[in-house]
Amino acid sequence: MRALKGYGGLTQVELAGASGLSPATVSNIVKELSESGVLHTSPSTRSGRRAQLVTLAHDLGLVVGISITQRHLRVALADLGGSIVAEKHMPLARDHRADNELDKAALLVSDLLESVDAARSELLGVGVAVAAPINRLGMVAVGGILRGWNGVRIAATLERRLQAPVWVDNASNLVAAAEWRTGAGRGRRDLVAIDVGEGIGAGLICAGVPIRGHRGAAGEFGHTPVMPGGPLCRCGNRGCLEAVAGAGAILERLGDPRVTRAADLVSRAVAGEDSAIRALGDAGRSIGRAAAGLCNVLDPERVIVTGDLARAGEVLLGPMRHALEAGLLIPQNGTPDLVAGQLGEEAAVAGAVLLAIDHAKVGSEDHGAATIGDTAGSLAFTT
Ligand SMILES: [Zn+2]
Repeated sequence: MRALKGYGGLTQVELAGASGLSPATVSNIVKELSESGVLHTSPSTRSGRRAQLVTLAHDLGLVVGISITQRHLRVALADLGGSIVAEKHMPLARDHRADNELDKAALLVSDLLESVDAARSELLGVGVAVAAPINRLGMVAVGGILRGWNGVRIAATLERRLQAPVWVDNASNLVAAAEWRTGAGRGRRDLVAIDVGEGIGAGLICAGVPIRGHRGAAGEFGHTPVMPGGPLCRCGNRGCLEAVAGAGAILERLGDPRVTRAADLVSRAVAGEDSAIRALGDAGRSIGRAAAGLCNVLDPERVIVTGDLARAGEVLLGPMRHALEAGLLIPQNGTPDLVAGQLGEEAAVAGAVLLAIDHAKVGSEDHGAATIGDTAGSLAFTT
């Protein structure tokens, strides 16, 4: 199953190679899982010879989830149950341009459909998670947050390229929705999901309802002012939490040419390197202190920490929890627990998949008009 998710479709011989299992074992497993409806096989050719192409089943149609951040593009093809059947991702240049990246995303979608031998007509809808606040026109609502994306009608542009309905939302909202419905927030009604990576954002769910704000900019937790006259932030203000404790700020302060990515920082901290542990601890304390303000206002049951830096685990979460608890108004029935997210780097794309599924299931009547639906655990906007 993991090999099929990674490659899309594979022949039985290729599956044996990818899984390390014998061809006979693969044949038995494929037969069993095809009968139970988990896998789908179709005739194909490989190097001129007839072969059975094996894919994850997608009888009811497919949706696509796309996640776009400053540095990364991730595209996943999923069935209507939310299971990812194939995915691809690629790094983006820091100053990439929206139209090029939307072209790339559309190409990846075509590749993925082809890899599982699916027709374009099987694509029921596309959800897009963008690492920026999104307004009702499906555009980035605040200039400077995601350079190269100002004024781009993301949903409309992708709809033209893909000939399928597209819904767009802020990645933080979708991460929160995905963790809420399928991850660390399952069964909770009040939660805050803080995403800590290059940027810092938050998705807020209060009494089981996602909070978007008047302009779609609720949860811009990374732009909480925490240091008067502090470092300049990409939003144009000074001393924002993100400019102090985001991955970019930490890496710049470290000034170590060998450590240039959030992932490097995390692996060094996990390996026990003092300077990385200290840098992540300082960031955790800053974020925790600011999160205390958020928690005193919203009173969530649980705080979920996601994003690239969350992979450092307790190196970040320990100091963060300590600072959070120190700044909380302590009610008699306890304080919110602070835990790592469960969906890892898939969280945003999983949220985008849920967004597409919820809208695709509603039917095609909401295509082409500004939609406000709360079924995705978020309100989403199309053309
Ligand atoms: Zn800012």
